[in-house]
Amino acid sequence: MTTVIDGNGIADGIRADVSDCVETLADEGVVPGLATVLMSDDGASETYVSMKQQACEEVGIRGFHHEIDPDAPAETLFEKLDELNDDPDVHGILVQMPVPDHVTKRTVLERIDPEKDVDGFHPENVGRLVAGNARYKPCTPHGVQKILAAAGVDTEGKDAVVVGRSDIVGKPMANLLVQYGEGGNATTTVCHSRTEDLAAKTRAADIVVAAAGVPEMIDGEMLSEGVTVVDVGINRVDADTEKGYELVGDVDFESAREKAEVITPVPGGVGPLTIAMLMYNTVKAASLQSGVAVDLP
Ligand code: NAD
Repeated sequence: MTTVIDGNGIADGIRADVSDCVETLADEGVVPGLATVLMSDDGASETYVSMKQQACEEVGIRGFHHEIDPDAPAETLFEKLDELNDDPDVHGILVQMPVPDHVTKRTVLERIDPEKDVDGFHPENVGRLVAGNARYKPCTPHGVQKILAAAGVDTEGKDAVVVGRSDIVGKPMANLLVQYGEGGNATTTVCHSRTEDLAAKTRAADIVVAAAGVPEMIDGEMLSEGVTVVDVGINRVDADTEKGYELVGDVDFESAREKAEVITPVPGGVGPLTIAMLMYNTVKAASLQSGVAVDLP
């Protein structure tokens, strides 16, 4: 019997824990604050930012939103980040990517105070993650860890294959899986666009985390019986729907579920966890910066 993960249900549980922490902070006069910064006209980016602001409202986090003209010089963005770094009401800062071509992404990430970097992308936070002393785990891979835990999938000693090596999903995911302790201790292989014979790697895996951004590239033929499949991919493909497209993952769900013991759907799998973990990191940031302890599981 295959277990199909209910990502919304798991995310609800995390949001409830976050709300409890917001109350604990409020008792001490601390209101967690998250600032989002958008320097883009892209509709999808606007949607993501408004979903994040909406999520803040739902759990009692104070949201601040700033828009920078995409044609403005990079300095305008940096000045805004300096201002937010100095603002005691702002505990977390998130710059919605992508930024325009004339703004260097790396410089943006480095400009955010690492203590307010709730995405976990500042080099200091990447270093801490690799060193096994994470301050903020990046939201999507952290969400995958929460899914595995909720599904009772023990990663210890398992062969895990991560498909994708991006800085926001693949690399931090692999790092989390190889760390000591719960949710780690897996023998982890990272596959990417230059991997030869991907199917041989995924077929040998107990756990496959797909984060390549290629629609339905992993099918049942590439998986072994009893595997756990976590599909991070969110891809728009043309479809005969009202919107003219539908969302599919990197995994061919129907053939993969024939093999899998545990599988996440798209949508409704990893997606809801990403925003829930952003709320989690923001509350953690408020706790670290205020010195008020909270009980975040
Ligand atoms: P990316 O484009 O930055 O990285 C994709 C990675 O996949 C690259 O490292 C590349 O080497 C690898 N890759 C590409 N084609 C491959 C192939 N044929 N075989 C093996 N590896 C291949 O993408 P990303 O930002 O890491 O996102 C990956 C996917 O996850 C996208 O579909 C994205 O929309 C989705 N995503 C979802 C969430 C969520 O909340 N669920 C969050 C972030 C990203």
